Formats: sequence, structure tokens, C-alpha cells
Amino acid sequence: CASRLGVSRVWIKDEGQNPTGSFKDRGLRLAVSRALELGAKELALPSAGNAGSAAAAYGAAAGLRVHVVVPSDTPRPILEEMAAFGADVELLNGLISDCGKVVRKGVEQYGWFDLSTLKEPYRVEGKKTTGYELHEQLGGRLPDSIVYPTGGGTGLIGMWKAFNELEAIGWIGSKRPRMVAVQAEGCAPIVKAFDEGTRHAEPWADASTIASGIRVPAAVGDFLILDAVRESGGFAVAVSDDAINAAHLECAKLEGILLCPEGAATLAALIQELASGRIESDEQVMLFNCATGLKYPMQSEHHNIDLGKPIDYDFIRNC
Ligand SMILES: *Cc1c(COP(=O)(O)O)cnc(C)c1O
Repeated sequence: CASRLGVSRVWIKDEGQNPTGSFKDRGLRLAVSRALELGAKELALPSAGNAGSAAAAYGAAAGLRVHVVVPSDTPRPILEEMAAFGADVELLNGLISDCGKVVRKGVEQYGWFDLSTLKEPYRVEGKKTTGYELHEQLGGRLPDSIVYPTGGGTGLIGMWKAFNELEAIGWIGSKRPRMVAVQAEGCAPIVKAFDEGTRHAEPWADASTIASGIRVPAAVGDFLILDAVRESGGFAVAVSDDAINAAHLECAKLEGILLCPEGAATLAALIQELASGRIESDEQVMLFNCATGLKYPMQSEHHNIDLGKPIDYDFIRNC
């Protein structure tokens, strides 16, 4: 794939192999354990899907009630997964930011423990393990660039923290990978803020993209994301849904890896930015696939996948 793309090396950090099929496990495993330790009884969070199912899974294991508020168009397999884990799932006709308002109300009224992105300190601590793992899995070095699908930004912020910690214990020097934050054209508040040179992002109106995990119109930690991207010498970039779909199929066919749409967005960004020259052909690039593609039913009209009709073979009926 790398030679076809015209870049020296491409890795995919495949986070789809986590227990609930997404990297949300890393943060919520720790956050739920700590909430239990602190005596919390009921946990709550807004989610685009994967955070909700991870919280529901670890909540089930801990014997804690979990309230998840999600947009009603969240992929069906993810909704069924959370429901199976016994979570109280509330569907909302709105975006994740609207779901957040419902959670805040429950936190005030019923004393739910708030697991929202960056509203407690432990999710980011769990998520930062990706930073250590990159170092370990690459044999003690880091890639030149990390291309990361950015919603609330916990993963990017966590990795940045991990790199600083690795430097503090003397395992790496001061050189950092360039952090490339990828968003969708239909919801790109961080990209707009990056391009305009501001430290905070304005909420994105009418957010819309097939990559539901990065459909986050306003990120609490916008300044942390933007600081890390700028300090690293990286940039923020938006890709179209069409480019996401094309990259999704391309990776499946060329590599045998079924990315999630957000993971496909990182490949789309790599292709786009190799063409623009912002990523150079001699770089070693790490793409992030944050969840298994199996959680996202493919809309065949986007993918032009025609499976044909089922066949009735006479010889089967006759034997
Ligand atoms: C949550 C999520 C993201 C965004 O991750 P952040 O660290 O919140 O920016 C991207 N892709 C998928 C599949 C996700 O579940």
C-alpha cells in the first residue's frame, strides 16, 4: 500500500482489536474502575457510539448502572451492543453535544458520575497508553507523522502526554511525531481554528458526516488538541465523505483491513496531503484505525457493493 501511495512507510494502528472493538476501551476501562473505587453508583456519558459501548461493558463487569445518551442515527450494531451490556440507552434526535446537555441534567438531578470526554481525568490516562504502545511496537522509536481522526481529541491529547512522559524518563529525546488531526468536511471545527490561528474552536453548525465518531461539533479540549498539533509541527485537515468511502474500499481491497469510517478518513487525509505536499514521500506515517469496520454497516449505495441475488442450486435441494 505504501509504495502505491508513494510514501516510504505506512502503518495502521488497528484499535479494532480491543475488547469492545474500539480504542474507547482504553480510556473507559480505567475511568470505570476509578469511578467504582471512588464509590460511584451510576455512571453517565454522551457518546457517538463506541464510548457508550465501552462504558456499558466495563460498567456491566463492575456492577454499575450506565446511562448512555446517543444520537438516534448511531450505527445499529453499536446500539445493540450497549443494550446487551444492560446500559440504559437514550436515543436523541440531535448531535453528541445535545446528548451532553441531557447527561449534565442527569448529573445535577440524580448525582450520576460524569464520564463525558475530559470531564474526569482518567479516560485520557487510559487512552495515553497508545503513545507508549507505539513506542514499544515500533521497537523503541516513534513514527514521523501520526494521522489521527479527531473528535473530542482524547486520544491525541493522551498520546501527546505519553510522549512527554517518555521523554521525562529518558526513553525518547525531544523530537516528536507531527500530529495530524483529521476531521470531516461536514464537521471541521478544529481544522477551521487551526487555519485561522485561534486557540479555541467555534462550535460547528449543522455537523454532518458518515464518520460518526468524529462528528463532534464542539470539543471541550479544543485548545489542548490545537496546542499539541501546533507544537508538533503538524496540521489539521478535513476530508470529504466521498474520499472517506473511497479510502475505505481501497484499504479493504489492498490490505484486507476493514477500517471504520474514521480510520478511512486518516487514509483519505494521507492520500490528499501527499498530493498537496504537506506530507512528504520520505515520511514514515502512522494511521489510526480507531474501531473495527464491523461495527459500521456499509451503506452499499456509497460503496457500490453489489452482492447479487441469492442462488438456489437444484442439486442441493435434490440430495
Ligand atoms: C471516539 C472515536 C474517534 C475520535 O476520538 P477522540 O479521541 O475522541 O478524538 C474516532 N474514531 C472512532 C471510531 C471513535 O470511536
